[in-house]
Amino acid sequence: MTSTASRIVDALREALPAGSIVVDETELRSLERDRSGTARGWALVLVRPGSTTEVQAVVRIADAHGTPLVAQGARTGLAGAGSAVDGAILVDFSRMNRILRIDPLERLAVVQPGVTVQELAEAATEAGLFYAPDPVSAEWATIGGTIATNAGGMRCIKYGVTRESVRSLEVVLADGSAVRTRSDTIKSVAGLDLTSLVVGSEGTLALVTEATVGLRSAPGPARGASALFPSIDAALAAANEIATAASPPAVLELLDSFALAAIRDYDSTLEMPGDARAWLLAVTDARAGADEELAGFERAFAAHGALSSARAETSEELDGLFAVRRVLQPALDGYFGTAIHGDLAVPRAALGEIVAHAAELSERLGVIVSINGHVGDGNFHPIIAFDPDDADQTRRAHEAHRELLARAHRLGGTVTGEHGIGTEKLEALDEELSPRVRELQRAIKAAFDPKGILNPGKKL
Ligand SMILES: Cc1cc2nc3c(=O)[nH]c(=O)nc-3n(C[C@H](O)[C@H](O)[C@H](O)COP(=O)(O)OP(=O)(O)OC[C@H]3O[C@@H](n4cnc5c(N)ncnc54)[C@H](O)[C@@H]3O)c2cc1C
Repeated sequence: MTSTASRIVDALREALPAGSIVVDETELRSLERDRSGTARGWALVLVRPGSTTEVQAVVRIADAHGTPLVAQGARTGLAGAGSAVDGAILVDFSRMNRILRIDPLERLAVVQPGVTVQELAEAATEAGLFYAPDPVSAEWATIGGTIATNAGGMRCIKYGVTRESVRSLEVVLADGSAVRTRSDTIKSVAGLDLTSLVVGSEGTLALVTEATVGLRSAPGPARGASALFPSIDAALAAANEIATAASPPAVLELLDSFALAAIRDYDSTLEMPGDARAWLLAVTDARAGADEELAGFERAFAAHGALSSARAETSEELDGLFAVRRVLQPALDGYFGTAIHGDLAVPRAALGEIVAHAAELSERLGVIVSINGHVGDGNFHPIIAFDPDDADQTRRAHEAHRELLARAHRLGGTVTGEHGIGTEKLEALDEELSPRVRELQRAIKAAFDPKGILNPGKKL
């Protein structure tokens, strides 16, 4: 350790209680990568502050030495955003894990960043209310991490992404000062909307030390219907009819023919008939009119030539329908050994074209390009299966992914609908955003973080 590094660690030891610093190499190495598995260097130290004041002390030390700071939630991120950079202080928020207040009148909760999404959702339910964001990682992912990535989930078609549930934030800025971004009221147009800038900024603008999030009325029980279709176009036509109905479904998910074939091979108990080319699942959680919504799903299925459909009236039955979606990832990963997992979003009207392009890429490049996901909001997760021991197939898989990204962009879409940029998708940003927009974004970063110590080399 250099003398500067020792001085930083000594200063952190002085500022934080015993037991809240990790410098042991082995332990540190096990904590410096998110689920992407990648990191841009070795961290110097990991700290676990227990309060906003302790976070401020850590940031002031980093500011004084120009040391990079990388915030960490549960490290479930898929883009490298929470992974170490060289010489970084990793700021782990797991000790700041209290739900401070649930206010039924104002319909909000005030929480520390280390609370998991599931803990908040359960506390809201106990209070007769509802926290809508539902990333599949909810059991582990933290409020701080999901705010910093603006996480999505299956229910976005009805409730929007995490941003739609964030009222205000307490953040620690790069110079160590703590500020609240706005009032907790539903409405506020006072000044520029800094809350929205911090949401989705992947720890590059500020550290979130407290969040006020909006809660909704508890929804009705979830009920759903799924259907198998003879073609992806038929499924997409049914999906568009369901998505644009007077009351939108809570969930609308699609699987394509590659996914169905992989699932058929992976788990024969799931009964996937060989003539099915697409699968659709629609869920309602309406408190009133759920029967009509379900009947509407089934009418759309029938109108677009569904081969069969199944209805789920109870949570157990619905779990049975979701089982098909849950095995998708292991089924396709297991097909050839590994897979690229994409995260594109396109306007709903462009779904047909992107699906056709994926089929053309599969044919031309001889790899499996499977299109699945949240068809209701246009965010889908292409899975490109390949054999990592076959160099040529690996090259073709990456070529297919590059072409798919380029086509999504041309169709007015984005390279990342929910998983973020981190370090993994930085290159694609230049394709998607104009130089002027990139410049503006960097100017905003410089205004928040003039020394560039907050998660450098990520997001922008
Ligand atoms: C099985 C699985 C399923 C998933 N499903 C979904 C899904 O459905 N939808 C979806 O959107 N994502 C999903 N993800 C990705 C991931 O869960 C989300 O990106 C999530 O928001 C990350 O939360 P985290 O607490 O793990 O944060 P981390 O991965 O630790 O960090 C993510 C980013 O947030 C920053 N950060 C963390 N805490 C703070 C803070 N307090 N202040 C400032 N910045 C902070 C980090 O620096 C980093 O940039 C999934 C991941 C897995 C492994």
